[in-house]
Amino acid sequence: MVIVVRVIYPRFSKSAFRGGLSGLSAAKDIAAAGKSFAILEARDRVGGRVLNVNLLDGQAEEAGAEFVGPTQDRVLALADSLGLTTYPTYREGNCSMLRNGTLTTYPFQPSSIPPLSTEVLLELLSFQSDLNSMAAGVSTEAPWDHPNASIWDNMTVATYLDSKITLSDSRFLLENDITSVLSTEPNEPSLLYLLAYIAGGANKKTTGTIGRLINVADGAQESRIDGGTQLLPLKLADGLGSKNIHLSNPVRKITLENDQYTVTSDKMQISTQQVIVAMSPPMAGRISYYPLLPAGRDQLTQRMAMGAIGKAIAIYPYPWWRKLGLNVQGLSDSGSIRVTYDNSPKEASFGAIMGFIEADEMRKLDDSGEKKVRAQVIQSLVGMFGDQAANPTRVINQRWDAEEFSRGGPVAFAPPGVLTEYGPHLKAPVGGIHFAGTETSLEWAGHMDGAISSGERVAAEVLMALK
Ligand SMILES: Cc1cc2nc3c(=O)[nH]c(=O)nc-3n(C[C@H](O)[C@H](O)[C@H](O)COP(=O)(O)OP(=O)(O)OC[C@H]3O[C@@H](n4cnc5c(N)ncnc54)[C@H](O)[C@@H]3O)c2cc1C
Repeated sequence: MVIVVRVIYPRFSKSAFRGGLSGLSAAKDIAAAGKSFAILEARDRVGGRVLNVNLLDGQAEEAGAEFVGPTQDRVLALADSLGLTTYPTYREGNCSMLRNGTLTTYPFQPSSIPPLSTEVLLELLSFQSDLNSMAAGVSTEAPWDHPNASIWDNMTVATYLDSKITLSDSRFLLENDITSVLSTEPNEPSLLYLLAYIAGGANKKTTGTIGRLINVADGAQESRIDGGTQLLPLKLADGLGSKNIHLSNPVRKITLENDQYTVTSDKMQISTQQVIVAMSPPMAGRISYYPLLPAGRDQLTQRMAMGAIGKAIAIYPYPWWRKLGLNVQGLSDSGSIRVTYDNSPKEASFGAIMGFIEADEMRKLDDSGEKKVRAQVIQSLVGMFGDQAANPTRVINQRWDAEEFSRGGPVAFAPPGVLTEYGPHLKAPVGGIHFAGTETSLEWAGHMDGAISSGERVAAEVLMALK
């Protein structure tokens, strides 16, 4: 989504509307300040990585962002201001783990750690505690300023795991955690990036921890929004007015001439004073800029990569597993799906099991058709929850890697060397071009909360520039 502020030409006539959360949040503050603006959105809908799939009975399932949790103050405040309510992610009963071909069920653990040997538990807890202490010293404003930044940015998370973890069960759980948080294999992001991501999972009053990122209880997966998360962008867009939102308008070029920017999309050209590019760095890198952006900014967008992710939701007439004492919070070391949750709606008017297809597992399916992916999804669910999982009435499968205007998710991560070499370019404006998007956030980057705060930050930047 690209937002042009203090539009010079043209004046807009009414058009049918339907932008991501970062752009809409920026627009909300700009509108409140009484400045003219226009939103150019590539897709034919608002929401970006936030997407409801509407089901026949008026219910919705989230094919993109879904969970909210404590310290995500921006998204919780926005939901509240829009009249939306939250409810807890289902956790009654036993969790399931499929490991080395053996299925184990165990009571819900607030720490998300299954009951493994004391040795494993000690190794895990000590590793998590080390990560948390390292992260506590990393500033999300400038992670590259940490005294150990270059050491941590020169290694991948996998290299760090290799140096610390000796037990295969600990390794399995930690790899599963990292993959489920970033949708990368541990050999993709740099250690510094992961530490900054952990540090960011907090508000101003708290310190981020790995547990806060991965847990349901007191963690980022704690709650859901009644009616589905896409109600956030839809309601925001409603408040901004259809005449200001131009869908199906991918921006291709931003040109500066005589102190004036011209933004060219497939269907229109707008002249303006200030431009907000509210999208992930890889997507922002696909727009042409004249004069060219600084080399460092372009190199950053060339290097930050989206995680590989698909989200599958199997729908059943009712949540049959609940009667069996299962909460379908599952972990697995095999199959396309390695992490699952109960995605049934608040009133459980139907049953839904959601599973992520992440990193290498998603890449393996790149060339596969829907039929094969569906079969893989069902095979994974049967492996974790038994034969009753074999007959869903519908399987929703959202392949974010194949979405032209996302090309993956949940977030663009930084491989080794990127933050220390190019980090400051992430959110530094270039003249009147400002960069928003969850990746630029100091708090809860990679999450809806981060998207919203990045929008608020960039709106303040633009309003200051217009003073
Ligand atoms: C599968 C999945 C699960 C997730 N789960 C969660 C979760 O449980 N909780 C959570 O908080 N977050 C979650 N997230 C992350 C969350 O969705 C994102 O952090 C957030 O939505 C990002 O918002 P954004 O505005 O920064 O970017 P986007 O949502 O990507 O918005 C960018 C917008 O720009 C548009 N665009 C792209 N190129 C152009 C162009 N050239 N011209 C015009 N418009 C363009 C796009 O269409 C899009 O609308 C998940 C994401 C995914 C994919």
